[in-house]
Amino acid sequence: MNRIQLGNEVFEGQNDVYVFGADADPTTLVDCGVATPETREQLTAGLSEMGLSLADIDQILLTHWHEDHVGLADVIQEESDATVRVHSADAPLVAGDEDARNAMYDRQRELLREWGVPADAREELLAFLDGNAELAGSPTVEPFEEGAQFRTGEGDLEAIHLPGHAAGLSGFVFDGETGRELLSGDAILPHYTPNVGGADIRVERPLAQYLDTLVRVIDEEFDRAWPGHRDVIEDPAGRAREIIGHHRERTGNVVNVLREHGPADAWTVSANLFGELSSIHILHGPGEAYAHLDHLAAHDVVERTDAGYRLVDDDPALDGLVPTVESVE
Ligand SMILES: [Zn+2]
Ligand SMILES: [Zn+2]
Repeated sequence: MNRIQLGNEVFEGQNDVYVFGADADPTTLVDCGVATPETREQLTAGLSEMGLSLADIDQILLTHWHEDHVGLADVIQEESDATVRVHSADAPLVAGDEDARNAMYDRQRELLREWGVPADAREELLAFLDGNAELAGSPTVEPFEEGAQFRTGEGDLEAIHLPGHAAGLSGFVFDGETGRELLSGDAILPHYTPNVGGADIRVERPLAQYLDTLVRVIDEEFDRAWPGHRDVIEDPAGRAREIIGHHRERTGNVVNVLREHGPADAWTVSANLFGELSSIHILHGPGEAYAHLDHLAAHDVVERTDAGYRLVDDDPALDGLVPTVESVE
């Protein structure tokens, strides 16, 4: 397997593209970077170092629908006729299905109001999202499900569904140098805690689903993980535990905000947690707060009232809400 590291700054930045079977068919890419001219040049240069051009790609596996992972898929497909595969939950969005995209935009607008995002911030965000819509292509896709096996020119990849950050987020498992290795997409990242709640507003109970995903990453005992951004993760279970720890701390912080502030909407909680936000963070900040508030509501720690989320249990036991790091060892 070869990796091409892209230098993009949009979204989380520095997307990774993985190449399986540079010397043998089917030559397969896992993710393919955001659709900007610079990224396209970097991808083309990276492939040419392996003696490949875009026209040589037979298959593209996508970890999820976000523009920075999908963007160049349709350009590559045009040149090569590559088969583009993505989990069924994300397939309509990737394929540019109008109904799926409109349903998502409508729900986004509805939630932004429900979260209490002020009109000027909403407008700033929607302008930003419109500007980015063109960074997503609309390739023809073949949907897959958990457990699907894909042959590549360099061994098989098996899909593993890791929802939370996105509804269809899937990793791919393969026999690597150190043993059973995972291409993790944005399910676990080396530096950032992947956003939940805002990054894909279609996900129901986003924090609960994401915590289940993290526990699964721990249980699977992968020997190494190759994320969608930046550098390899040598201890995927350790990183998953760290991220669970962040969410545990954040749950405590959300409870503290409500205790000090009284009933509050997601925007107010977000402002207390993250301060002032711009561009995509206007979606990600309150989305993250919402994911936690929704989780607390499901556990009867808070209730939704007209004045916002109100603390019902003043001193909740965090153990029942987020797995303890020890309990998943
Ligand atoms: Zn993502
Ligand atoms: Zn990403």
